[in-house]
Amino acid sequence: MSNEDIPQNLSSIHEEIEKSCKSAGRDPKEITLVAVSKTKPNEAILEAVTAGQFHFGENRMKELEDKMASISNTAIVWHFIGNLQTNKVKYISDRVNWIHSVEKAKYLKEIDKRAGQADRVVNALIQVNISDEKQKGGCKPEDLAGILESAQDYKYVKVKGLMGMATFVDNPEEVRDEFKLLKELYDSHQKYNKGSVQLEHLSMGMTNDFKVAIEEGATMLRIGSAIFGERNYD
Ligand SMILES: *Cc1c(COP(=O)(O)O)cnc(C)c1O
Repeated sequence: MSNEDIPQNLSSIHEEIEKSCKSAGRDPKEITLVAVSKTKPNEAILEAVTAGQFHFGENRMKELEDKMASISNTAIVWHFIGNLQTNKVKYISDRVNWIHSVEKAKYLKEIDKRAGQADRVVNALIQVNISDEKQKGGCKPEDLAGILESAQDYKYVKVKGLMGMATFVDNPEEVRDEFKLLKELYDSHQKYNKGSVQLEHLSMGMTNDFKVAIEEGATMLRIGSAIFGERNYD
């Protein structure tokens, strides 16, 4: 696959999103497609931009920092979706718009501090481990309430929802219950909405399982290989 295929891939995905929304009785406008451009060159991102795609996700802090610095298009909305390192938050906070992978209260504190220094607001999602696979990251469901309570008074970080990664399986039906669990947590934690915490997004669903994620309530899809082709590494 080459960069010329990207616009066609994007339009196929939009069609599938519409179909899934229709059969689930949902409005496609509720869904934000985040194009996961990790490992892919700037040219691939720019090709997607020409096709009308403006949300991009990266999972390495350095790679995101470099791409944000070298791509000057201010219409791009940048999402960080990978493992956070406290000492590197300062390098992305002056430009990143969304961080999906907050799994501890201490990261919110650091994001608030660094975004404040840049005089801007960063949106955060709390990543919950819904798969029982340790390497997937995310807080335990029982830690979620405490993390949300810790964030209510921050000025420069707003907690907007939850993120989860399902187990890698061939048949996406097998992870439906994991998405259901995240949606249940999302519903049951609405009572923590106060100040800077307002849960209104569910980031779940990737290339292999996004249709099931839509059926279970996703509002943000993180899709990489269906747009940009297979990766040589993650
Ligand atoms: C790589 C990645 C994705 C996208 O994966 P695809 O299967 O290529 O769609 C989504 N979310 C996270 C956190 C990722 O690291």
